[in-house]
Amino acid sequence: MIKITKFGGSSVASAEQFKKVKAIIEADPTRRFVVISAAGKRFSKDNKITDLLYLCHSHILYHVDPAPLLKTITDRFFEIKSELGLSTPIEAEIEAFGKALPNLSVDEIVSRGEYFTSKLMADFLGFPFVDAKDVVAMRFDGSFDYELIEKRLLEVLKTHDRFVMPGFYGSYPNGQIAVMSRGGSDISGSILARCLNADLYENWTDVSGFLMADPRIVKNPRNIQKITFSELRELSYMGASVLHEEAVFPLREQNIPLQVLNTNRPEDAGTIVLDSIEPNPNDPLVTGIAGRKNFIAIEISKKHMSNAVGFVKDVLEIFEQYHISIEHLPSGIDSFSVVVNQKDVANNVHEIIARIKEKTQADLVRLTEPFALIAIVGRNMTQRSGTSGRLFAALGQAGINIRMISQGSAELNIIVGVNHEDFDRAVNCLYETFTH
Ligand code: ASP
Repeated sequence: MIKITKFGGSSVASAEQFKKVKAIIEADPTRRFVVISAAGKRFSKDNKITDLLYLCHSHILYHVDPAPLLKTITDRFFEIKSELGLSTPIEAEIEAFGKALPNLSVDEIVSRGEYFTSKLMADFLGFPFVDAKDVVAMRFDGSFDYELIEKRLLEVLKTHDRFVMPGFYGSYPNGQIAVMSRGGSDISGSILARCLNADLYENWTDVSGFLMADPRIVKNPRNIQKITFSELRELSYMGASVLHEEAVFPLREQNIPLQVLNTNRPEDAGTIVLDSIEPNPNDPLVTGIAGRKNFIAIEISKKHMSNAVGFVKDVLEIFEQYHISIEHLPSGIDSFSVVVNQKDVANNVHEIIARIKEKTQADLVRLTEPFALIAIVGRNMTQRSGTSGRLFAALGQAGINIRMISQGSAELNIIVGVNHEDFDRAVNCLYETFTH
């Protein structure tokens, strides 16, 4: 059994959290490959080590002395070290890092959060430390060279049957350190899972898995016990966030299940994410609800449009020229709307409208007020009748006007557009409707 066990920043933020990690690792002997983030926040106003390191880089850039920042960073790590009675010479390592700072790339600087945290964790767990720069091979375009990573891992496994590896970074073919996007330790874990052909990727964080809805909108939403990768993709696209989006791809390629678990409540079952889930009449109809604000629609209408071949293509080409990604294309007979993210067209929406008018001679090209999109997502909605009926009835009874409707042909989601002021009420209304 091969498990990859990844701990996020809040799981390694203090000596207290380190102890929880150790208890989790020791509770299961198959937890042998551990990926660690940089120490995160201990309380809401605290700083993440990675943020402090980005700040160090800015200090260097603007010729400001980074010494006070380095002291804060050293104190954080020294506190963990001394509370746990560890012997890793972390102060000396940070001192050397401070001296080298002006000559280091930004990627190398910010990667040290994961590096230092993992060094201490390896010491505490009594596991070997394996540096991500010697394993995670990245190409200059930022993609991963899985073949080389596998080869390197085979070498590592000749001498180690367990290890701790820092997340978030790897190295280019010339050996230079390169970081992934923020939150990238999730990706490191997935890459290890893929390249070691793991049976399970455990992602330990500070929530007990995914919730059915955003807890800032819905009070105490239920936990999602099981979800497919496709459902997760729909929900994260629509705004739900716990896991880095890119972490999903390496797992799906290899069909590796992912479990999201809570370091502070290890007894909770969390959420398991699988490639496919056998239909079960006891599973909920709707797996999750998510939504995002700030979409706009450009409505285009022209008499007899339905007979005009190439009309839609002409309009879409204009969006393509501006590199604008289109979210939805709801259509009528002689009209259709192009739904896009408001911020994507913020600088040139009037120019785009003028070009559509000019190119298509449309009777009307109009910009709508911004609105929100809400998606209800569920694999069990497929081929079951009545779901959209319940959705529309519930919103109708609540007096919520629906500005747009879309359902993917896979029947995995139903998306509705509502006014911004109705957003929270609509999410709550749908949550109530589909959890009772
Ligand atoms: N430490 C990095 C960040 O704060 C990566 C991670 O935590 O996954 O973005």
